[in-house]
Amino acid sequence: MRICIVGAGYVGLTTAAALADFGHEVQCVDMEESKIENLRQGKVPIYEPGLEDLISKNLKSGKLNFSSQVKESIRDYPIIIIAVGTPSKEDGSSNLTFLNQVVAVIASEIHDHKIIITKSTVPPGTNERIYQTLIQMGIDEELFDIVSNPEFLREGTALWDIYHPNKIVFGTKTARPINVLKELYEKGSAPYIFTSLSGAELIKYASNAFLATKISFANEIARICDAYEVNYADVVKGLATDPRIGRLFLNAGLGFGGSCLPKDLSSLKHSALLQNVDTKLLDAVLEINETQTKLYLNKLSTVLPDLSKKQITVWGATFKPNTDDLRSSPAIALIKQLVQKGCRVHAFDPMVQLELPEVTSYRDQYESVKDSDALIIATEWEQFINPNWIEVKSNMKGSIILDARNCLDVNKVKRHGLLYLGVGKR
Ligand code: NAD
Repeated sequence: MRICIVGAGYVGLTTAAALADFGHEVQCVDMEESKIENLRQGKVPIYEPGLEDLISKNLKSGKLNFSSQVKESIRDYPIIIIAVGTPSKEDGSSNLTFLNQVVAVIASEIHDHKIIITKSTVPPGTNERIYQTLIQMGIDEELFDIVSNPEFLREGTALWDIYHPNKIVFGTKTARPINVLKELYEKGSAPYIFTSLSGAELIKYASNAFLATKISFANEIARICDAYEVNYADVVKGLATDPRIGRLFLNAGLGFGGSCLPKDLSSLKHSALLQNVDTKLLDAVLEINETQTKLYLNKLSTVLPDLSKKQITVWGATFKPNTDDLRSSPAIALIKQLVQKGCRVHAFDPMVQLELPEVTSYRDQYESVKDSDALIIATEWEQFINPNWIEVKSNMKGSIILDARNCLDVNKVKRHGLLYLGVGKR
């Protein structure tokens, strides 16, 4: 199949590389010319495990191409996948400017039949609106199919997720494109879920809202455990054995971040309010998440009451391990609050050199703790979970370790003469 993917970001690039690897002829386009120029030379602008190799393999085989000629590419290809960003507006609703730009180009280039697939996360009603817009522009409905095909990949394991999806969701208006759609991901064995356009849009939002709810639930229970001096990990053991609950997404810590959960939750809330639907649960999920940073800073102030002029090292800047994505990262929110409190912040992340005012960024994990009063683990990168505590201890001035991801072995930390601080863990 001949496919044009619009948007060479986290979703567009991984989808393009995988679909080319499945044997399709894929053209991935982006309006950022420098990005495309680099991609043509095999230089991948984001970090995603395995992606550079897969892109390079499929560039060589000729199955994958990159172009900044968005209009021409859209004209030439019968299947268009839209994977542009849909960030949050101030009021929490989705900013659909990029999507609307792409739809306008598609509308001007429908000469033969096209299947237009929205992979970007969009509020319920968006794909129906795209359909109505094209009809109102006088485009014959026989000339196009609109499909909503939300993406469920996770940054850090994006390729694995594309090769092993637990479902593939297609929202359509009619059954016409279904046979073609089934060929798109024919390599996978995941169940297909066919539904309406808005049904597919809402599956995506409901999934992310549920995952975010689990995290805020975990954080609230961890707060209660903390108050009663109970190990939250023990409670999780009890929860996880119940198949109705499961183990995933029950980690307590700084809360959820990244480019999806916070923005999708806000957008879903906004969509609900537009229809006068109350969102008490979603409101609480967001509120718990937004207060997690403060909770950990309060924990720190139990042993360092005056944070001003203290030197604090933060390990981790990305919103989770195995990515370079800083969007809505709780670690960054924490760093900014430390700076506001007058701390001298030293930071280390395996993937990112931070350029933030009043933050000193290090290239060496152990250099970053030199003379610090406290060390905070803000992202659970593998190399932070089991570091050389002897080196940490000898480099630090103080001895406080704040485990803001509940990922450390408490006994190991204590054995090295360090003071362990966590929420629901002691
Ligand atoms: P991104 O910001 O990394 O990439 C978007 C790309 O689209 C950018 O390279 C941008 O230059 C390009 N673009 C924007 N407007 C364009 C236009 N008019 N023509 C050509 N290119 C254009 O975004 P992302 O993280 O890949 O997310 C894309 C969508 O997928 C969003 O709706 C997001 O919510 C959704 N999603 C993301 C993830 C994730 O983990 N990142 C997972 C599932 C779904």
